Amino acid sequence: MTLCHIKFARPDIVKLDRQYCIHCEKRQFFVVWFEEWYGWYGTCLKCGEKFGCDEWLPRPFAPRWRQQNIEAAKKFYRRHKAND
Ligand SMILES: [Zn+2]
Repeated sequence: MTLCHIKFARPDIVKLDRQYCIHCEKRQFFVVWFEEWYGWYGTCLKCGEKFGCDEWLPRPFAPRWRQQNIEAAKKFYRRHKAND
């Protein structure tokens, strides 16, 4: 039997914030969001690294994943702000 976890939580808070990026080793702009039960998540808009609950999230094994993460974070932010 295979268990499948499907997450449909809609983030309550989505914002731009300047935080310290442990990959860039300096403060960068992040798209951050808060999901109930899961906590804070964020994507660095400089390097594309994703963080959740103060830990690095797994990197995809795909070409141009950094740029795709940055574009996805920007799109996510714009879509959330458009629905406010
Ligand atoms: Zn970074």
